Amino acid sequence: MASNRPRILPHRRALSTVLDLLFPPRCVVCRKVGDWLCVDCLSGFPRLVDPLCARCSAPVRDSPLCADCWKSPLRLEGVRAVAPFWGPARAAVHFLKYRYALSLAEPLGAMMAQCWEMRGVPVDLVVPVPLHPSRFRARGYNHAALLAWSVGRQLGLPVDEEALIKVRATKVQMSLGLEERRANVQGAFVACRERVQGRRILVVDDVCTTGATLEACAEALREGGAREVWALTLARTI
Ligand SMILES: [Zn+2]
Ligand SMILES: [Zn+2]
Repeated sequence: MASNRPRILPHRRALSTVLDLLFPPRCVVCRKVGDWLCVDCLSGFPRLVDPLCARCSAPVRDSPLCADCWKSPLRLEGVRAVAPFWGPARAAVHFLKYRYALSLAEPLGAMMAQCWEMRGVPVDLVVPVPLHPSRFRARGYNHAALLAWSVGRQLGLPVDEEALIKVRATKVQMSLGLEERRANVQGAFVACRERVQGRRILVVDDVCTTGATLEACAEALREGGAREVWALTLARTI
């Protein structure tokens, strides 16, 4: 049966609740006690501003596409992102991913939903970039799925955390170049045909660096019969 909220392993949910009680949330940017993202840091959150590449959202000057997208366009319809990946966005991703700041997904997802309302197109289904099951068991939740559920709720779109499955564990992409990244994630994902066929999919992740992971997801979704594949991330490496 389809779920209507993110999958979080019970022990991880309990630990996160206890940590919130013992150590009240502090703003990930300015460290003020109260919320994971205080009102001031939320309103001052750095944003990517126009002009941006129509395809991958990298900053451009006098051209609709960036140099990379002229050379070899990303293999998906387009990527939209809220913020450059430094300072506040980097801190937010770190806390969401490694410090169990689960409720941080709400304000971050709200910014992403707002970005999609401004720059996006109609889609049918929100799908997070999945973790490999071994990584999911270790972490207890998928941070991209937390963002996807928040985005879906705020855009009034269905979310399917099981439409894409990661069938092969991959190396951490951080230190790899573009071609190594592509090879690393090639064939790592499989889509569930009955969940995606004929649909316009919005893939959600925390960060887009080269787009290799999003491209591998898009390839799997297309093989599963998806009609269009778009992506939305909180941050974009510039
Ligand atoms: Zn703050
Ligand atoms: Zn581009």
